[in-house]
Amino acid sequence: MNDLDLTTEKLPAAFTPPLLAWYRANARDLPWRHTRDPYRIWVSEIMLQQTRVAAVLGYYARFLEAFPSVEALANAPEERLMKLWEGLGYYSRARNLQKAAKAVVEMGGFPDTYDGLLKLPGIGDYTASAIAAAAFGRREAAVDGNVLRVVTRVTDCHDDILDPKTKKAIREQVQAVMPTGEADIRIFCQATMELGATVCVPNGSPKCEVCPVRELCLGRIRGTAESLPVKKPKKARKIEEKTVFLLLREGRVALCRRPDTGLLAGLWEFPNVEGALDEKAAPAQVTAWGLEPKQWKNKLTAKHIFTHVEWHMTGYTLEVAGDGPEEWEWVDPAGLEAHAVPSAFARYYAEAREQLGEQK
Ligand code: SF4
Repeated sequence: MNDLDLTTEKLPAAFTPPLLAWYRANARDLPWRHTRDPYRIWVSEIMLQQTRVAAVLGYYARFLEAFPSVEALANAPEERLMKLWEGLGYYSRARNLQKAAKAVVEMGGFPDTYDGLLKLPGIGDYTASAIAAAAFGRREAAVDGNVLRVVTRVTDCHDDILDPKTKKAIREQVQAVMPTGEADIRIFCQATMELGATVCVPNGSPKCEVCPVRELCLGRIRGTAESLPVKKPKKARKIEEKTVFLLLREGRVALCRRPDTGLLAGLWEFPNVEGALDEKAAPAQVTAWGLEPKQWKNKLTAKHIFTHVEWHMTGYTLEVAGDGPEEWEWVDPAGLEAHAVPSAFARYYAEAREQLGEQK
């Protein structure tokens, strides 16, 4: 397959009626599909994150027996909550559930809109849409991995689904074909996901022969379905070596400002240069700044990981004499506190505090 951007094909409105009819006749009988109670739907959605349906069923039943209402969950002892979650993994989900339950109780009930739900701890774009649609009949498209797979196959879309732009475009397309009747809205998201989970499956060949949307599926017609969706491997992070100088002078340490644009724009940092300077090259750099090295005190390496770059830093702590460049500031411990030094320099910030403390 070539690299052409094929996303010009849109999800057709004809996608929806056969999908809903198929769902009504074939959907798996799952307990959270029998309720409109936002609490029960919400608990199921959180449990289903990163967890298979079969594994969730038992936990879901026990959890709701122990905490039958959002008030019961809000007031639950943490130990009991964690015990009931034991084995499901991703424990922050349970903590966030309780935090959100407390917020819901304080508000006097569940928010009934996408925006309101999104404000609750642990509820992201997908979960907010899923609850808004299933519990409140709102026309909000919930897009998970299953939906991404179905839509990219039906529209023969070869864009990278890990790119947020692709996800956004797909959400808009799904939104456009959502039904308008309340009963249909409540099941539409589940129906698309169910198709992805049971027919348009991720591993192995999709079961196109029993698929309700086979007639309009471009991935099937063009023979590309099995190569979709496209997930581009993340680019490896670039590694940048740096040498950081903690220059101490009479109870003060040198700081300089980062440029107004780019990474960590406008924040303060310790003077540094590109590359890993060794013990011979480092003094030459200090001299080049117009300073005289007096006493070498420490060498500290540190690493900081940004989204696209990793800094590997070699740091030297030394006493100096002289002024250094005009734009630098020489700060005492209080001054250091008052300047915004990014956490990328945390190791050196701690060292500077220690050194300045020692000198008091
Ligand atoms: S026809 Fe095949 S590829 Fe297309 S949506 Fe159905 S199962 Fe998936």
